[in-house]
Amino acid sequence: MPEPTSSTGDNKSLPPGMVLGPDGKPCKICTAFRNWKPADTPKRGQDGSKPAPGIAATMAAMAAGGGAAVSQPDSDVRPEYCPPDVEQLGRATWTFLHTTAAYYPEKPTQNQRANMLTLLRSLPVLYPCSHCASHLDTNIRENPPDVSGRIALSRWLCERHNDVNVRLGKPEFDCSIKKTDERWKDGPSD
Ligand code: FAD
Repeated sequence: MPEPTSSTGDNKSLPPGMVLGPDGKPCKICTAFRNWKPADTPKRGQDGSKPAPGIAATMAAMAAGGGAAVSQPDSDVRPEYCPPDVEQLGRATWTFLHTTAAYYPEKPTQNQRANMLTLLRSLPVLYPCSHCASHLDTNIRENPPDVSGRIALSRWLCERHNDVNVRLGKPEFDCSIKKTDERWKDGPSD
């Protein structure tokens, strides 16, 4: 898969933060909502009534090279009726993966190990954010999953999440089992 282009200011026809997919077109699921929401999108009700022309027209304009048609967003808040962006998808996926690791058996059967490996190896193939999937593919090849038990798996997953955190300029998480269990299984002790 070719490395997708991310608009980081070098491409003047794209708004900052807009990410292109492997097809060279703006990739909605690869981009944070605040970076693709057009400023002049008419307001909808919370139930999503009165569809706005915003994103479809924006994407079409962007794909056609009409970047100037898009102005900066006037709000970073992603309305409930909108499809997930890269951040909501990420949070939901990490929640699922870390929680599944936290409840994975201490001594998994061969069948459980095989299924966990299948789940993890399917992510780079199926994850909808293409550049996230591409980075994860490289990451998993360099750091094969440790599915030998829940403590090892929780640490392995925490370290993969930290790889993304570092790449995005976010703080690293303490990958001790005490901290991952506190966050994803037991809650704070007091
Ligand atoms: P998240 O990073 O989503 O974390 C959710 C919660 O997990 C945090 O609040 C914290 O309590 C806890 N946490 C944080 N770090 C760890 C850790 N190491 N171990 C255990 N718990 C932790 N976004 C991009 O913009 N570019 C990418 O290339 C990209 N790649 C991704 C690849 C994968 C496989 C996934 C699942 C997501 C990816 N994302 C990517 C999304 C990104 O990781 C975040 O989910 C998103 O930016 C939202 O971040 P957040 O600050 O809300 O917290």
